[in-house]
Amino acid sequence: MQARTLTIRLIWLAMGASLLVPLLLFSLASWISYRHIEDITVERLQRSLDIEEEEAQKDFLLVKHALDDASALVDQRSAIDILADQERLHEQLETLVANLGPARSIWIYDVLGNALVSSAVQPPPQENFSDLDFIRAHEAGEPGVYYGRVYPSPVNSSPYFSVSRGVRRKGSLEYVVVVWTPPSSFFRFYAAMAYASGLQYGLIRNDGYILARYPVAPPNAPDRLNEDTGFRRTIAERPEGGLFSTKSAIDGITRRFAARQLDGAPLYVQAGIATSAIRDEWIGQMAPHLIFGIPATLLLFLTLFAVLRRTERLYAEMDQRAIAEESLRQAQKMEAIGQLTGGVAHDFNNILTIILGNLEMAKRQLTEGKEGERSKLAQRVESAIQGAVRAATLVKRLLAFSRQQTLDPTVLDINRLLCGLADFLQRAIGETISLEVVGAAGLWQVEADQTELEAAILNLAINARDAMPEGGKLTIEAANAYLDDAYCRQYSDLRPGQYVLISVSDTGTGMPKEVVERAFEPFFTTKQAGQGTGLGLSQVYGFVKQSGGHVKIYSEVGEGTTIRIYLRRFVAGPAPALETAPEVGRGRGAETVLVAEDDGEVRAYVVETLERLGYQVLGASGADEALEVMHNSDRVDLLLTDVVMPGASGRKLAEEAKRLQPDLKVLFMTGYSRNAIVHQGRLDPGVDLIQKPLTGDALAATVRKLLDG
Ligand code: ADP
Ligand code: MG
Repeated sequence: MQARTLTIRLIWLAMGASLLVPLLLFSLASWISYRHIEDITVERLQRSLDIEEEEAQKDFLLVKHALDDASALVDQRSAIDILADQERLHEQLETLVANLGPARSIWIYDVLGNALVSSAVQPPPQENFSDLDFIRAHEAGEPGVYYGRVYPSPVNSSPYFSVSRGVRRKGSLEYVVVVWTPPSSFFRFYAAMAYASGLQYGLIRNDGYILARYPVAPPNAPDRLNEDTGFRRTIAERPEGGLFSTKSAIDGITRRFAARQLDGAPLYVQAGIATSAIRDEWIGQMAPHLIFGIPATLLLFLTLFAVLRRTERLYAEMDQRAIAEESLRQAQKMEAIGQLTGGVAHDFNNILTIILGNLEMAKRQLTEGKEGERSKLAQRVESAIQGAVRAATLVKRLLAFSRQQTLDPTVLDINRLLCGLADFLQRAIGETISLEVVGAAGLWQVEADQTELEAAILNLAINARDAMPEGGKLTIEAANAYLDDAYCRQYSDLRPGQYVLISVSDTGTGMPKEVVERAFEPFFTTKQAGQGTGLGLSQVYGFVKQSGGHVKIYSEVGEGTTIRIYLRRFVAGPAPALETAPEVGRGRGAETVLVAEDDGEVRAYVVETLERLGYQVLGASGADEALEVMHNSDRVDLLLTDVVMPGASGRKLAEEAKRLQPDLKVLFMTGYSRNAIVHQGRLDPGVDLIQKPLTGDALAATVRKLLDG
């Protein structure tokens, strides 16, 4: 679950990053690009100013020379003299003006504003020009060249601005010499410079008065920039000029501006680039990135989104499948349980029929009481006993499958065990089948219940025999084996490590896959009724699993079958297994056994059996009674107690009894296997146990062994 959440989170994270990273990169690139364009803009403005400055400087130098030359013509001359010489002066001014380029004219005015001489017209117009700004400026003592306002020409009414200087005699103003210059000559130059839209150039006086401007100002626009315009504020702060951004007071367009003062004149050249043009250029640079970037980013994002949806759907499907599988497993389990129950019921019914039938007959024979039928009676009882024995076997097999039988593991040498079994197996499988038993040198030991292991091998041999009706070969091999991690991971309850492998192979019919899958199920059989019980492989499975081993079927239809049993290697010091056949032990007259058992019939049976074996036997129906009996008798040699009894358990009783008589021997009997004194189906070290149903022989042998040991 956590891994899933993590995966989903990671995909979300990747989705976020797929948007954020391109965005960040794009922002960074945009910022860098913007800075770059800024720098280029400043560079361009400075270049423009350089050109404007050079042009204006050159032009005004020529104008200044012309002013000087014209001044020299009238210096020290009286007005009457000048007027008399008007014709000649006019021509001289005309030659001066020829150097200044087209559309310019030189005029000479007296202090009252009368035009004395003009290069433009001869004779000059007789109007009074005393209200022109430059006359007043020079009267007020303007020391050098004065740059005046724009006026319409009296000759052709085109606009002109004046560049003028005063001619003085003994300190007082005599004449003013003026070069009229059309703003259009600057305009044309600026227009030639303007390579793109949004550009603006200008020639501005330091009081904000605009002498020339490109592009032409809209009608009704002011002709002067007042104090709070960007231009005025910049030159107030830095008279040499500088950079500024502002919204133009003339046409309302926001621009990035640069202004620079012309050397030695109260004039500034100015250049501006519309910020919108700068922005457009910037966008123009960045947009191509977006053309690729946006689709790529979106594609990545959508892909990740699709991955997210798919992953979520996959998880949902996985959940659903898990639920479906779980319910299927449940159904299979129910089916298996049903089959098991049916099988048990069926077998038990048969057995009960045998027992009940025989007992009933025996009873009838008893009541009818004909003498001489004793042997028949004995036969009936014998049959009933046989039935009961079959029932006990069935129960044992079921317990084996449920892995709840009480195992008595001993250390075994499998080579020895197989050799010992060979003759018996050969007899069991018949002569048409040849048996080969292959041991291994240096075979490890295992710890297992010998009887159960032998039963398992016998079950396998019998199955092999059934699979080879026409004869064949049965091979039983032993070998050391190692089960590795990878293999064990497939089985939840298998630990990797060293195992002893016993494989049983036949050359029989083999099993199809469906049979292999179900072969271990109890009561699963493909054999005809009466031939197979379906309990053979389930015993093998239950025993091997309970012993901590592993069992696996390999089978090919028509080829044969190999069944492999893996038993854990036994590593503690080698202790050879004793194979002593139990002999019937008898009591020696004086030995006392106390039997604690709540079931009266069982108790009676046990007491009687032991008495017949020659023991002194005391009976008790529970723990309390047993202790009381112990108090009252002088000595008890052995306590034989049931494990589960009403009141105190057999274990408790044993503890109490040992306190009374420390050298007391204790033997437990039990029908259960899953109970307090048995751990994982194995015997508790030091605890002796005998399994119900008790048989006289087993009881005799075990009791004798305990009393002797
Ligand atoms: P049973 O032998 O009573 O049928 P088992 O549990 O021993 O029950 O086996 C179950 C089924 O597995 C058999 O009925 C048979 O179909 C199949 N089987 C077991 N061992 C072999 C084998 N060596 N070759 C072919 N089939 C086998
Ligand atoms: Mg079988």
